[in-house]
Amino acid sequence: MPEFGLINRYGKQLTMLPDQIIRSKRKTLSISINENAKLIVRAPKRISDQKIQDFINEKENWITKNQSVIKARAEDTTKDKNMLLYLGTLFPLKTDNDAKKISFNGEEFLAGLQNKEKTNKSLKTWYKNKFKEVAVPRLFYFAEKHNLQVNQVRIKEQKTLWGSCSSRNNINLNFLLIMAPLKVIDYVIIHELAHTIHKNHSVNFWNAVEEIMPNYKEAKRWLKENGYRLRTL
Ligand SMILES: [Zn+2]
Repeated sequence: MPEFGLINRYGKQLTMLPDQIIRSKRKTLSISINENAKLIVRAPKRISDQKIQDFINEKENWITKNQSVIKARAEDTTKDKNMLLYLGTLFPLKTDNDAKKISFNGEEFLAGLQNKEKTNKSLKTWYKNKFKEVAVPRLFYFAEKHNLQVNQVRIKEQKTLWGSCSSRNNINLNFLLIMAPLKVIDYVIIHELAHTIHKNHSVNFWNAVEEIMPNYKEAKRWLKENGYRLRTL
């Protein structure tokens, strides 16, 4: 007998099942779809399995819709396999026997005949260097223009964050952002710079962001919809 769901007499599953249930001290139920389109349920410790199943049944349309969005994205990403994003544009990746490391000529990327892992490693170095060259000066430009005090700036690859700002105004930026359009990079930079004044996401914080970048919402939406494209390496 499965713990969850209903099975008809032909053994067919009639209800949607959770892929993972995370029980914790929380008070309410919540569901989410992870990047592999799996259904994750977060539940209070003592809630019954039946209540969890009822909740899932209630949200079935939402779950199906969101799972299909994620599956479509995965297909989309494999389709772009031989294309690389740089500043919001896709460029073809060509192989060149003589190429020792990855290069970009303004129209296409060239890489030697190496395995995927080596190419990705070399590409990450290339992206990181470009980020330092193209994006980091913009941070200092905006900081100076708006008189914002920044302590240290660190560039790293972060699994979940695009940027962060510590209580001591140390800013971390994710170099994978170099794949995004410049206005999106500016948005993340300005977002973190605004945190040097407001350590929260209050109305005042968003007003400060808007003052520096009036059309920031467009960039924010781009990142929400396309962020997964920057994490394919
Ligand atoms: Zn923030």
